[in-house]
Amino acid sequence: METLRDLSLARGTLDRASLRRRDPDLLPLLLKDPATRIVELVGDRAQVVGSDPEGALLLRSPGPRDTARLGVFLGQDGEGTAYLGVVGEVGGDEGLSGTAPWRTLRQAGVLLSDRDAGMFATLQGLSNWHSSHTCCPVCGAATEPWQAGWMRRCTQDGTEHYPRTDPAVIMAVIDADDRLLLARSPHWPQGRLSVLAGFVEPGESLEAAVAREVLEEVGVVVDQVRYLGNQPWPFPSSLMVGFIARAVDPTLHLDPEEIVEAMWVSREGLREMVLEGRFGISPTVSIARRMIEHWYGGPIEQ
Ligand SMILES: [Zn+2]
Repeated sequence: METLRDLSLARGTLDRASLRRRDPDLLPLLLKDPATRIVELVGDRAQVVGSDPEGALLLRSPGPRDTARLGVFLGQDGEGTAYLGVVGEVGGDEGLSGTAPWRTLRQAGVLLSDRDAGMFATLQGLSNWHSSHTCCPVCGAATEPWQAGWMRRCTQDGTEHYPRTDPAVIMAVIDADDRLLLARSPHWPQGRLSVLAGFVEPGESLEAAVAREVLEEVGVVVDQVRYLGNQPWPFPSSLMVGFIARAVDPTLHLDPEEIVEAMWVSREGLREMVLEGRFGISPTVSIARRMIEHWYGGPIEQ
C-alpha cells in the first residue's frame, strides 16, 4: 500500500544545521546580521503574504526589539541564509501590527510553500513547549532557553530539558465491506465526524496503540494494522502517525465518555452526507482529511 505523501505540515525543507545550536554566540550573531531572515510568531499567529499555492511567511531583517525575545534558530537554506524564529508577547506593544494578515498554522498550513510550512510547524511546536516549561521538573526553579532555543536549562541545578513531541496514532478502520468507521467525540459539534485517534502510552508500540484505542472507544477488534504516514501536529505538541486497520467484526460498542456517535460509511454514503451538508469533514491541513480521502479515492469537496 502506498503511503501518504506531501502532508501539509510534513514538508519542511530547511537544513536544521543542529550542530550550530551549540554555539552560544549563534543567536547574537544572527540578530546582528541583516541577511538573517526573521519569522515572527505572536501567540499562534504569523504574518502570511500571498495565497495558495504561492503563500509565504513574511520574512524580515532583525530589528532592535528581537534581542529581548525568545529566539529559535530554525535552520539554513541551500544558499546559507539563516532563518530565525522570534516569539512576541500576545498583547505586547507591537501586537498583531503590520499590513499582512496574521494567520494560524491551521489556516496557513496548506497555503504555504514547503519551506515555510515546515518553519511554521517547527516554530509553533517550540514556542508551545517553551511557554509551558518555564520551571524545572526536577527542582521547580526557573529554566532558561539554551542552545539557540532547542533546549531549556535549570538556573539552579543545571539539568537540561529538551522539547517534547507526543506520539499519537490516528487510524482509518475499514470493515469487510470496505466501509470506513467515522466517529464523533463529545467535544465536537453535531455533524462533525472523523477517524479515531489517541495518544500512545508508555511501553506500547504504535500498532498496539491503534488496536487498544479502537477497542476502548468503539469496542471493535482490529487486525492488519498498516502504516499510512505521519505529520507533526503542534497543537500543542503531537506527532500524528496514521494507520489503516481492518475490523474483525463491525459490531460497535461505544464508550460514551470518548465517543457519542459512530457509524460505518460507504463511499456513496459519505458523498451523500457531504453533499447534503450533514457531515463536517476535517480540514485539509489535517492527516485525518488525507486519510479519509485516501480511502475515498480522491479529494472530497466540501
Ligand atoms: Zn532544577
